[in-house]
Amino acid sequence: MPTESSTDLTARIAAAIRDAACAGDCGDTEEECAAQRIQPCVWQGGVLTEVLGAPEVFAKVAAAVMQVDVLANGGPR
Ligand SMILES: [Zn+2]
Repeated sequence: MPTESSTDLTARIAAAIRDAACAGDCGDTEEECAAQRIQPCVWQGGVLTEVLGAPEVFAKVAAAVMQVDVLANGGPR
């Protein structure tokens, strides 16, 4: 299995953060949503370019991507 470059990993975490941004259909109140989810801020040409959210939310999204990586690579070494 080829070693994934940090650039690829960065792109995948960025994509996961975009995916985790609330599209306004979560059903939570604005306050609950803001506390638990990433909020989209700026769109450029249909691409989400800026987001807002609690550091813990970003950490969870990044950790989820890393976890998938670990599993895909055969678990912790
Ligand atoms: Zn929401």
